[in-house]
Amino acid sequence: MCDTFAYVVLNKKTLEKFRVTPGKKFRLKDVDPGWRGDGELKDFSDAELKASAAKVLEENLQDLAAQQAKLYAHDRWSVLIVLQAMDAAGKDGMVKHVTAGLNPQGCDVYSFKTPSAEELDHSFLWRIMRVSPARGKITIFNRSHYEEVLVVKVHPEYLQKQKLPAPLVTKKIWEERYEDINNFERHLARNGTLILKFFLHVSKEEQKKRFLERLEEPDKHWKFSLQDLKEREFWGDYMRSYEEALTATSTKWAPWYVIPADNKALARVLVSNILTKAIEDLKLGYPSVSKEEKAGLAEAHKRLRAE
Ligand code: ATP
Ligand code: MG
Repeated sequence: MCDTFAYVVLNKKTLEKFRVTPGKKFRLKDVDPGWRGDGELKDFSDAELKASAAKVLEENLQDLAAQQAKLYAHDRWSVLIVLQAMDAAGKDGMVKHVTAGLNPQGCDVYSFKTPSAEELDHSFLWRIMRVSPARGKITIFNRSHYEEVLVVKVHPEYLQKQKLPAPLVTKKIWEERYEDINNFERHLARNGTLILKFFLHVSKEEQKKRFLERLEEPDKHWKFSLQDLKEREFWGDYMRSYEEALTATSTKWAPWYVIPADNKALARVLVSNILTKAIEDLKLGYPSVSKEEKAGLAEAHKRLRAE
């Protein structure tokens, strides 16, 4: 059972299926949030799916930890993971699970909320650039600069708060932002940052189920905010904005992946696998030492032995 699961979720075709092709119009309806393979996983019960996913995730995380150790030692490349999603799609859980086996010293997580007064006094990428990943590190953005073409597009009143000079706020502003974002990400990529962007695609029905759980289970009350219900009313506008943004900003140097997210365990396996494979493709080894350094090491070894 687990073998079938591993085969279906880990094969290359599956991973490519969820990648938004650069330059091609992307339609959300092409990705089923409740995806269960091309039928192969249809008969798995929720419990079976969860158990198989947990096993494969565990293996993925071991591989990821090994890759992270090399990334850190190599100290040239960095990795930026962007997570975007509607409320209750599982961003927090994704961060928790994907980072579970990582060395905390080599990993940073940033959440982006409504901008502060200081942030609004700068260009929209200012707060992002300040925390973009250092060499050797994996940085996760829980929400990101994409909020600027998602929530801000859905609620133009946020744009008014940005104190932009009036002549610069035209109908072209979203196209200009996509362009700025692409150029910014290209700059990072050209300087050694591997960028992977994930949209956790949850269905409206699944969101309702998760909100109800939050309202009905006292231990989950803290997770619910009335604002979440308000944003739900804009579901259609958000989906349109996601389609437009993903179409405009999935690039060769910073691709988007649309991850079916109605099943959290499955979503975590897919993300951890895409991430691990992408770092593996950098083909990092541990840094090698020069002849002189090797001689120094041999000398140190001899001295310690003789102590
Ligand atoms: P959780 O609810 O799981 O704690 P969250 O990411 O939803 O996590 P919240 O504090 O509930 O965190 O919400 C943050 C809000 O800030 C979101 O509604 C998001 O859309 C909004 N936000 C983020 N960036 C911007 C921005 N640049 N302009 C306006 N709103 C933004
Ligand atoms: Mg929230």
